[in-house]
Amino acid sequence: MSTDTAVQSEVDVPHYAMYIGGEWVDAAERYEIRSPATERLIATVARGDLSSADRAVAAAKAAHEDGGWRSTPPAQRAQVLRTVADRFAERTYELAALHAEEIGATLRVAEPFHFGAALPHMHYLADLTARYEFESGGPTVHPVLAAGKVRREPIGVCAAIVPWNIPLPLSVWKVFPALGAGNTVVIKPDEHAPLLLLELAREFEAAGLPAGVFNVVTGEGEIVGARLADHPDVRKIGFTGSTAVGKEIMRRAAGNVKRLTLELGGKGANLVLPDANLEEAVDGSLFAFLMHSGQGCESGTRLLLPDALHDEFVARMIERVKTLRFGDPMDYDTDLGPVFSAAQRDRVLDYIRIGQDEGATLAYGGGVPTGPGLDKGFWVEPTIFTDVTNDMRIAREEIFGPVVSVIRYRTIPEAIAIANDSDYGLSAGVWSTDPALAFEVAEQLEAGMVWINDWHLAPPEYPFGGVKQSGLGREAGPHALDEYTEPKFISFDLSGGLDGKPYGLLLSTPAS
Ligand code: NAD
Repeated sequence: MSTDTAVQSEVDVPHYAMYIGGEWVDAAERYEIRSPATERLIATVARGDLSSADRAVAAAKAAHEDGGWRSTPPAQRAQVLRTVADRFAERTYELAALHAEEIGATLRVAEPFHFGAALPHMHYLADLTARYEFESGGPTVHPVLAAGKVRREPIGVCAAIVPWNIPLPLSVWKVFPALGAGNTVVIKPDEHAPLLLLELAREFEAAGLPAGVFNVVTGEGEIVGARLADHPDVRKIGFTGSTAVGKEIMRRAAGNVKRLTLELGGKGANLVLPDANLEEAVDGSLFAFLMHSGQGCESGTRLLLPDALHDEFVARMIERVKTLRFGDPMDYDTDLGPVFSAAQRDRVLDYIRIGQDEGATLAYGGGVPTGPGLDKGFWVEPTIFTDVTNDMRIAREEIFGPVVSVIRYRTIPEAIAIANDSDYGLSAGVWSTDPALAFEVAEQLEAGMVWINDWHLAPPEYPFGGVKQSGLGREAGPHALDEYTEPKFISFDLSGGLDGKPYGLLLSTPAS
């Protein structure tokens, strides 16, 4: 792999600089980006700092004030977004492979799903930009005003802060509507998973996006991320990450009342109803908690089973999970890849110990797999806990690994109550052969997204996001640009004489 954003470093892997103000800007220090499966060095990346964050915000502010991008007609802005989407589509295999290697997702899933899911979103958000109603209004029913309009104006400098688990789609959901609406953007990827976003910068540059409109700063969260959250010239933050950091960003954003969209953690409740198709529900429930080794905010990690099905369901799940193959994520035959890092593996193993200490039954897994190809990298077995109660930490806290907590229920209202008894409310799922019943249950679940007989689906036409401590606002869907515009009301008073005007309520016609 070689890129013209990069020079070959001394260890013969590409080195990526930051993209700031239309230039590739290096730093004195570097991060190593290593494959979570093999620990192989893939690339090095500039280690940005406070001054990089400030420089990027200054570039984005200058580009906003210059006005070139925001006054570019939406159809032309949409065309730039479309060009980038087309380039990503042309480079699908190469970029999906880079993405899979960087984050450890299996290529079989990453190509159509993680990476692949970003492409329709790019095209949808480009098309949405072209048809978005940036101006609306007309005559009013107000007794005085004759005409008013609402202009949806860009907010200004928008910062995007994203995590490592699926950086491309999570960034597209922020960057495309922000740019489509005429804002300028500074994005801070996770310092260990920035490569796709630097490739995105490369394609924006090639598509002719003016300097300073899109900037990428690679650096630590507590340094670069915190600076963006504090910065008085940043007007909006789109953040995806943990609930704890989301709260910290909210506190910092209060300084200048920044607009916020927050996509935070989850503890998805997966309700198998008594009439579910067992075979589908077993496979689907594995998909819900095992995709990307459970490192998805929307994963279904609390599995609610009716008493009558419980034992058979768990037995079938264990038989099925035994057939899954660990291995090289770049091999299309691999079912399960690694977790992202040593720290993530240790965190998951800690939770497995906590579950056992709390009295849950470790029905399957719980360890680190061994075998050919697993001597390097960060691995955790798929882990199934039974006899879990909803007050246990393994039922309440986000583990972010391949672990499911199985909770029994007796009646459907009880299952709904357990599902809703959570600080989180991002996703939920229902398995049933009765559509009317499934919808009735789905409507009672406190979650931003409920899947019936499937999981993880995020089509571009529908909003993504959570309720309660899973977040604030929504990404994607028809209102995606609303989150990146400020509605401004402008009225034009055509009412004529003084008495007909609002100020005529205060002032009377002067005596002649
Ligand atoms: P994290 O919160 O630790 O980090 C997310 C981003 O914030 C990173 O870029 C990090 O560098 C930055 N950051 C860290 N500390 C910061 C600070 N003090 N100020 C500003 N920025 C800071 O999350 P993570 O471990 O990288 O990702 C996993 C979390 O992300 C999980 O909780 C998961 O549920 C969540 N997530 C949510 C969604 C969603 O759409 N709701 C999607 C994916 C991941």
